[in-house]
Amino acid sequence: MRLWGTRGSIPVSGVRTIRHGGNTSCIEIRHLEEIIICDAGSGIRELGLLLARGRPRRLDIFITHTHWDHIAGFPFFAPAYIPGFELHVYGARGFKKDLRSVFTGQLDSDYFPVQFEDMKANIEFHVLEEPALRLGGFEISWEFTHHPAATYAYKIKFGRRSMAYVSDNEFLHGYLGPPQDLQLSSEVAAPYRPLVEFLDGVDLLIGEAQYTNEEYRSKIGWGHSSLSNACVLAQLANVKRWIVTHHDPLHDDDFLDQKLNTTKEVARVIGHPMEVRHGYDGLVEFW
Ligand SMILES: [Zn+2]
Ligand SMILES: [Zn+2]
Repeated sequence: MRLWGTRGSIPVSGVRTIRHGGNTSCIEIRHLEEIIICDAGSGIRELGLLLARGRPRRLDIFITHTHWDHIAGFPFFAPAYIPGFELHVYGARGFKKDLRSVFTGQLDSDYFPVQFEDMKANIEFHVLEEPALRLGGFEISWEFTHHPAATYAYKIKFGRRSMAYVSDNEFLHGYLGPPQDLQLSSEVAAPYRPLVEFLDGVDLLIGEAQYTNEEYRSKIGWGHSSLSNACVLAQLANVKRWIVTHHDPLHDDDFLDQKLNTTKEVARVIGHPMEVRHGYDGLVEFW
């Protein structure tokens, strides 16, 4: 899999964020000629330029939710304009507009010079409601996260291997207490049982921990986790390898380095040894 965008909320640029990168959410998951894409943040633009150089093909794009940072790259996704490409866009049933309206709305002439009708690929939108979907060798399943939009976490299995992508998720909403000694049966954790069980034992987690513990105090309810609470999710779900993504636009490279050290320290304190790293734009990982 390759991370094409690891920033949350809004793209950033400049020398202070050059090591982690500034594009918003997009992941490519590939086995030989089969490609699955998760999210269409600004990172999907560069992926699209690469794919557009190849022959037209089918591409399956799973959207966690339709906040800007997860869809804003779609109008710049070159394969959408090329006849012969077949795009399938999947997501949760939204609270208000449907998936197709949200995507085509981005190409309204008030916002963008090119219209949806100019996209010459065959583009279909699908609401995910069955428990799982099989595409070639991949099996994709989903579960709701805790975020102020209809948001899915995705789990992708290939043979006996599995990875999960949990981009925007406020785990243990409002919890500011110590991260150690929390159980799935703890009162604060119990509402999250479906998500924890969904993630249980994945080989690789791509997931957020957007705020430091101090920042989280003033951002409760914004839909993102403190790093301590995110560590508890990794522990309860028995995650062994975690790549942190959806970095806050206020966090520059040096700050993120410090934050990663703190995350490792929390993992040590709660007694959950795991490999934890920060994602960056361009990171390639085998799983
Ligand atoms: Zn986001
Ligand atoms: Zn969001």
